[in-house]
Amino acid sequence: MRVIVAGGGIVGLTTAIALHQAGIEAVVCEQAPEIRAAGAGLGIWANAMAVFDELGLGDRVRGIAEPSEMYFRDPAGKLIDPPGFSKDDHRYLLARRPELNALLARTVGRDDIRLESRVVGYDEHDAGVAVRFEDGSRAEADLLVGADGAYSVVRSQLVPGSDAIAHEGHHAWRSVVTPPEGVTVDRSVIVLGEQRTRGGYVPTGDGTVYWLINQFGSPALHGTPREQARERAEFLDTTGWNPVLPALVESTPDDKILYNQIMLVPPLSRWVSNRVALVGDAAHALSPHITAGASLGVEDALLLARLLARAEEVPSALAAYERDRLPHYATVDELSKRVEDSTTPEEFATNYVAFSHWMLTR
Ligand SMILES: Cc1cc2nc3c(=O)[nH]c(=O)nc-3n(C[C@H](O)[C@H](O)[C@H](O)COP(=O)(O)OP(=O)(O)OC[C@H]3O[C@@H](n4cnc5c(N)ncnc54)[C@H](O)[C@@H]3O)c2cc1C
Repeated sequence: MRVIVAGGGIVGLTTAIALHQAGIEAVVCEQAPEIRAAGAGLGIWANAMAVFDELGLGDRVRGIAEPSEMYFRDPAGKLIDPPGFSKDDHRYLLARRPELNALLARTVGRDDIRLESRVVGYDEHDAGVAVRFEDGSRAEADLLVGADGAYSVVRSQLVPGSDAIAHEGHHAWRSVVTPPEGVTVDRSVIVLGEQRTRGGYVPTGDGTVYWLINQFGSPALHGTPREQARERAEFLDTTGWNPVLPALVESTPDDKILYNQIMLVPPLSRWVSNRVALVGDAAHALSPHITAGASLGVEDALLLARLLARAEEVPSALAAYERDRLPHYATVDELSKRVEDSTTPEEFATNYVAFSHWMLTR
């Protein structure tokens, strides 16, 4: 069996690794001239670590990540610890995205990664699928996996009308920086602030710090990314208890701040055809307030590879994959929405840990 994976992000690379381990030939076609990671830090939850362990990569991922815990504070700095959950429901690893993607790319192997190879469409037939590339070339495969992210070309052909939509008013700013002179960061602080802001900072373990600021229902943006982030940092500290976040933002040059209007993929009626399947953000770009899109996405990769390894033919494996994923992500959407709709920091923190608990223990 030969598989073409469109997209060399965390999920596409993990898909290729899982397929290789199942004895299936897989090539990653990435549009960019190099494997790179859009983003700064990435929280890897235990469900994703279970996938990496299963693929024999767990220790290497742990080697480039720092243990951390997701507890929220209210804007006056009070720690919120919702009752009924264990420490395990809060624990995750923070990795620097470029290092993680580089590790995954090395594991896939250079021979099975085609760079500057943008997929523009496909023609499916009974025996397989012909994948079309931007340079006019075509390649035959038994299966095309769309791991091409929120703006997936594969999805737009598989499910017409499923373009990613802007999550109105939901914005994110973040960076990884060395703390400026006089600022010490020895713990993780994440705050649920006023005006529907969230944000804080997490040490990465190598002397740098990942800071992040998000807002739901933001008014129109004005000024530079740093001014926008600085303005929202004020909502995260009502009593002056936390001068660190504004100092980190202040010390970050505008061109080092990663800003995003958050995009969502609408719930899909299908994830597969007989010869095409979606994984990761291509199928379910989620609002990052639950910080779990990648952790959930790598589960898609392992499940798909397992089903393909077991099945007699591709279409039945894909049908089984879709039967599992559609109800699974309906629950993710429902739990995620509960977090978003929370009206107080306590409610947000409780719904957030309830989501993590479900993800980690189901
Ligand atoms: C602010 C923010 C914070 C987040 N924090 C977390 C977190 O802490 N933990 C977590 O688990 N998740 C988090 N997420 C979600 C996570 O970033 C995504 O779920 C994850 O990156 C999706 O990976 P992917 O491989 O599916 O897609 P992507 O990372 O988008 O990769 C897609 C790849 O496909 C390539 N590509 C696109 N189109 C084509 C094409 N036509 N042909 C070939 N290649 C193509 C792209 O160049 C890219 O390399 C966060 C998201 C945001 C926005």
